[in-house]
Amino acid sequence: MTIRPILIAPHPTLRKKATKVATFDTELQVLVEDMLETMYDAPGIGLAAPQIGISQQILVMDCSDQAEAQNPVIMINPHVREKSGELEPYDEGCLSLPEYEITVERQCRATIDYQDVQGHAHSTTFEGLEARCALHEIDHLNGVMIIDYTSQLSRSRILRELRKKKTQEKPNNA
Ligand SMILES: [Zn+2]
Repeated sequence: MTIRPILIAPHPTLRKKATKVATFDTELQVLVEDMLETMYDAPGIGLAAPQIGISQQILVMDCSDQAEAQNPVIMINPHVREKSGELEPYDEGCLSLPEYEITVERQCRATIDYQDVQGHAHSTTFEGLEARCALHEIDHLNGVMIIDYTSQLSRSRILRELRKKKTQEKPNNA
């Protein structure tokens, strides 16, 4: 297993609509293992493939309490069948927007159709933090990020700050 570098916004791959996975092979299994390793290392509770530069419809998440055993959820080609419940605000973070938290209103009950790493079909109803996390990661597969839930003004400010940080870091990485 390999920890892959996480793309930081702004990056064109984070804004692309990811393509569907058609082949369920060993390569996909390795990629999913790497995504889990990368997410736990970050640490984060969810990671979408575009965040490591792979524009395919794959996400991993684990919303279990850190004291509990790991409970990884893997979704390939996820599709939101139904959302319900009240819109609830919550301060979300994102591994591609380090150090920022943005209040996002979401319905916190979602039924999602998806495939597992072997290609078998599933449909699961998630609630609370798991539903929120799944919807956040599915947004990534559509090129949508939490900055899109804030005003144009704060979006520009955050992207400007991140761009500046990237330029400052370049000499060290070169
Ligand atoms: Zn994110």
